[in-house]
Amino acid sequence: MPSALSVIELTQKLLAFDTINPPGNEEECLLWLRDYLQTQGFEVSEHPFGENRMNLIARLKGSKSGAPLAFSGHLDTVPLGNAPWKYPPFGGDIVDGKLFGRGSSDMKAAVAAFIVACIDQRAAISAGTGVVLLLTGGEETGCDGARALISYLSVDLPRPAAVIVGEATGNYPVIGHKGALWLRCETQGKTAHGAMPELGINAIYLAADAIGKIRSFELGPPHPLMKKPTLNVGTVRGGLNINSVPDRASFDVDLRTDPTLAHTALITRLQCHLSDAVTITTLVDLPAVLTNSLHPWIQQVIAACQSLHDKPISPRIVPYFTDAAVLLNAVGNPPCVILGPGEPSMAHQTDEYCEVQRLTECVALYQRLIVEFSKPL
Ligand SMILES: [Zn+2]
Repeated sequence: MPSALSVIELTQKLLAFDTINPPGNEEECLLWLRDYLQTQGFEVSEHPFGENRMNLIARLKGSKSGAPLAFSGHLDTVPLGNAPWKYPPFGGDIVDGKLFGRGSSDMKAAVAAFIVACIDQRAAISAGTGVVLLLTGGEETGCDGARALISYLSVDLPRPAAVIVGEATGNYPVIGHKGALWLRCETQGKTAHGAMPELGINAIYLAADAIGKIRSFELGPPHPLMKKPTLNVGTVRGGLNINSVPDRASFDVDLRTDPTLAHTALITRLQCHLSDAVTITTLVDLPAVLTNSLHPWIQQVIAACQSLHDKPISPRIVPYFTDAAVLLNAVGNPPCVILGPGEPSMAHQTDEYCEVQRLTECVALYQRLIVEFSKPL
C-alpha cells in the first residue's frame, strides 16, 4: 500500500483545489480524493449531482456485523470575499502555527483529519463494524450535495450507529444546531408610467410594508439550549427602471429555528402575519439537529474531548447548519456530534486558517473515538 500523506499534506492538497461554491466544481477534488482513498484501501463510490459536482461514499469495512461509525464532511467552500487575502487562498501556507487557505477551518482540515485518523486506525476499524465517510459537495448553498445523495434511490446509504460532522468547533463537542428555513416572499403589483403612479400598484411598497411587518413576527419562545429563534431579511429585489411603477418585488428571509418549531406550521403562521399580498416560496428547508447529551456515545465523545479543554464540557449547539440536517433523517437518525479542528470564528473569513495544533489534536481525538467505537463490547 502506498504511504499515506500526513494530515498537513492532505489538508494542503485539498486546499489547492478551487471548490468555491457557487459554482462548486468539487468533482476534480473528489475524484482525486477517490483515487487517494482507494490507494489506502477504502471502497469508494462516486455520486455526481450535476456538472462538475460530486459526492463520495467511502468505506473501510469491519469484520463484525453491525452499524459503522460515520464521518461527514463537505469539500466546497464559500467565495473569497472582496477584501484582499494576505496569504494565497489556495496555497496552504503555514505561518505562526496557522494553516491558511479558503476552506481550512470550514472544513478541509477536518476531512483530512478524519481520513488520516481512519488510515492510522485501520487495524482497529477492521476488528470492529467499520467506518464510512460521507463526503459531499454543495453544502454551503444549503446542503445541495447531501440532498442529492439521499434522493438517489440507487445510492446504498449506510445506516451508521453514530455520526461525527467535522465542522469547525475548535475540537469542542457540539450536540446540535439550529434549523434553517430560507423563504422568498414576492409581491405582485400593477405597472404604470412613473409619472402617473396613481394608475399602478407599486409592488415595492407592498414588499416594504411586508418587510415592516415581518420585523414584528414572533417566531417562538427561546429554546433552553438554542436560545431565541431568529429571522433576517437578506436580500430585496424590485423594479426595472426609475420611471415605471414596479409590478413585482421580492425579498428573501433567513429563519433559524429550534427543534420545537415545525417549519410547515411556521410558514402558515408567517403567511397569516403577512396577509395574501405576499406569496411565499421555500428555498431551503433544513431541520434543527439535536442529540441528547446523556446518550452514552455522546458521553464517550465528551470524555474524549475533555482533556483538550480547561472548563468542564457542557452541552452546546452552533447556530450554523450542517449536512447532518439532511443526512441524519435519511440514515435512521443516529446520535450525532459536530466536532472539528477548525476555528468557528474563522469560517467564511478573509485569511481563513486552522491552527496546526488543533488539527493534530483532532487527528488523535478522532483516532480515540474510532478505537473506542470499534472496541469489542
Ligand atoms: Zn462547513
